[in-house]
Amino acid sequence: MRTVIVGGGVMGVALAYRLVTEGVEVELFEAGRLGGGTSGVGIGWLNSRGKQPFAYHLLNVSGMAEHATLARELGAAPWYHQDGALQWTAPDRTDDLVARVERLRSWGYPAELLSVRRVGELEPFLRIPAGVTRVAHYPWESLADLPQLIGVLAHAAAGRGAAVRPFTPVGSLTVEGGRVTGVELPDGTRVSADVVAVCAGRWSHTLMATAGLDLAMAPTPGFNVYTGPAPVTLRAMVHAPDVNLRPEGAGRILVRSEEFDDAVALDDPLDPVPEVGKELLARAVRYLPGLSGAAIEGARVAVRSVPGDGLPAVGPVPGRAGLYLVVSHSGGTMGPLLGRLAALEIAHGETDPRLEPFRPGRLLS
Ligand SMILES: Cc1cc2nc3c(=O)[nH]c(=O)nc-3n(C[C@H](O)[C@H](O)[C@H](O)COP(=O)(O)OP(=O)(O)OC[C@H]3O[C@@H](n4cnc5c(N)ncnc54)[C@H](O)[C@@H]3O)c2cc1C
Repeated sequence: MRTVIVGGGVMGVALAYRLVTEGVEVELFEAGRLGGGTSGVGIGWLNSRGKQPFAYHLLNVSGMAEHATLARELGAAPWYHQDGALQWTAPDRTDDLVARVERLRSWGYPAELLSVRRVGELEPFLRIPAGVTRVAHYPWESLADLPQLIGVLAHAAAGRGAAVRPFTPVGSLTVEGGRVTGVELPDGTRVSADVVAVCAGRWSHTLMATAGLDLAMAPTPGFNVYTGPAPVTLRAMVHAPDVNLRPEGAGRILVRSEEFDDAVALDDPLDPVPEVGKELLARAVRYLPGLSGAAIEGARVAVRSVPGDGLPAVGPVPGRAGLYLVVSHSGGTMGPLLGRLAALEIAHGETDPRLEPFRPGRLLS
């Protein structure tokens, strides 16, 4: 069997690696550099903290576990940091935090409430504000450096015979008699395939449109700033009420807040870093005083690849034999899992019940 994958983000390379491992011929096309799309900006926080309904939670939890499986399988796992996550609320919202922790526990998700003293032992550089008495700890949550994961998977896929072609955009899907038979490159070159897998993230609907399909998407923007190296150590992902902090290595911290996600447009200049970056850094300094005086090294903005109803769309496309779609938000968490499940379905027709609620037909017109 011969497959073409469109998209070299976490979804595309995870699928390429798994397909080639199943003995399928793979050619992957990426318009730019590998990981240059949303995967290059995503935070890679592997979690299922607010994921509902339960079927979606289950897919995310399975996705978290898949990183550990992949790490064991590949030996070294430079992308994978298993240091848990911490969260607190304003003191008058402690009841909300306790309720959240209880709901997650009732779904079998490891979550506990720690004293400020214990948090100080785990993260000595973190300053918890006065009045906060309880901090939620999610010990199974972890962080993935997605560009590294993409490199590892692309390298492994190529090593097993996949053709990985960065800087090679696909112009359109080729449709013959209602069946997708391959892709066409902008110079007119046609590449045939038994199955074409669209893993084009937020651009998926553009590609699907070339096969006469209207894929509902609900993309949302995201904005991150990155400090320069500072004399701080942080290992866990941190969610304070007004800012999120992610360790980026070498004393750098990624700082973001949902509040400012749409403060910067995709084509706004990022150099110099927009003013809102200063406000984010000021908030970060409250909790990591060691960041005081740190430079802001850069900023990134990206668009989340969110399908129309917020849930994943994975599976064969009804009415277009030969076409398979893998598009979702939380691709950091679920990419390796969705890649494996999709590969088993494409290569062997094996379906996994966890995917059934998330078939693409519901989003296509
Ligand atoms: C600010 C932000 C924070 C996030 N935080 C998290 C998080 O904490 N945890 C989590 O799990 N997820 C998170 N996400 C989401 C996660 O990063 C994405 O779900 C994931 O990266 C999507 O991967 P993808 O491979 O589907 O898409 P992409 O990485 O966008 O890859 C798609 C690729 O397809 C290529 N492409 C498109 N059209 C064509 C074409 N015609 N020909 C060839 N190539 C094409 C693009 O160039 C692109 O590289 C976050 C996202 C953002 C923006």
